[in-house]
Amino acid sequence: MKKLFNLLTLSLLLVACQEDGVTVQSNDSQASKGFDQSFIKKIEVNFDAGIQAKRGGKSNNDPVLDFMIQINAALVGQGIKLEKVEILGVDEAGRTVFFDDKGSKQIDFDWVPNDPRNNGFGAAVPYWIDNTQLGTSSGMSEQATFDAMVNSMNNWDAVACSGGLDIPFLFSSDFDIGLVQFFTGFGGSGLVITGAIAHAGILPAAFFETALGPGAGTGTLGVTFTFSYGTDIDGNGKGDTALSEIYINDGFNWQDAPNDVLFDVDNAIDFETVVLHEVGHGLSQDHFGTAFRDGGSGALHFSPAALMNAAYSVGRRDISGTDEAGYCSNWGVWPNN
Ligand SMILES: [Zn+2]
Repeated sequence: MKKLFNLLTLSLLLVACQEDGVTVQSNDSQASKGFDQSFIKKIEVNFDAGIQAKRGGKSNNDPVLDFMIQINAALVGQGIKLEKVEILGVDEAGRTVFFDDKGSKQIDFDWVPNDPRNNGFGAAVPYWIDNTQLGTSSGMSEQATFDAMVNSMNNWDAVACSGGLDIPFLFSSDFDIGLVQFFTGFGGSGLVITGAIAHAGILPAAFFETALGPGAGTGTLGVTFTFSYGTDIDGNGKGDTALSEIYINDGFNWQDAPNDVLFDVDNAIDFETVVLHEVGHGLSQDHFGTAFRDGGSGALHFSPAALMNAAYSVGRRDISGTDEAGYCSNWGVWPNN
């Protein structure tokens, strides 16, 4: 049933592509069988330039920013740029890092409807899933983690205000995807789909430590990397998102535990809640809420408590309140924004 749905979705998108005259930029012989590969583009990563940026560049005393400088040096000439890293922490370590940090005048990023660079996806923001890095060391099956990713996309898609947005499933990839992952030497590849959200894998803690710096392997639950085209073709004051990649840290006790408060008891974390949070970033939602510690217990709280808080506190699969308001302020008018 899953495959049938993939093919149906894909053929619909293919029709859209042909109408828009999208050209195939690059294919790769190792790409998955059974579906069209014309959405896939190959990014040439210049590792030497990245290394030079690391050696020659000044440290910003922020390993995430240093990493972004490296990866962007390696992507020069490829038409995309890593702009934003959103880190979901187990505590106050959760945060957002912008490549071009302008302080309070921060420029944010959003998808452009009918962006000609986005494979003819029109008013849709589709997604694909890395089929090679599913399942968790804590015992969740590949199918359970796959289902949580699909559920998360459908959950955001079902919010009533966003009738103009479609979030279709492209396919699950039988080759290892992930541009950031590729850059860090943890697998992945230079194969991307612009205009789409990539569930790029459940990766070992060492990947997070490498990409995000000391302590990130134990402090980061998940991360979303947002790449832009470096333009604002729709003149909305936001940079144009090219693609986003979501990674989940395998180094935690992931469980299928909706609305669970077990985190304080056995450190169990609801996998789908974290994926839902990361997809929120994929759909241009920023972190929200102020962190504070309970004076008595020392427990971490947020005001207001929301799915899009920068740290995990409880299983939360419903999109309501400030999460819904933030989402609807952006997607309620789509594709007319
Ligand atoms: Zn986040």
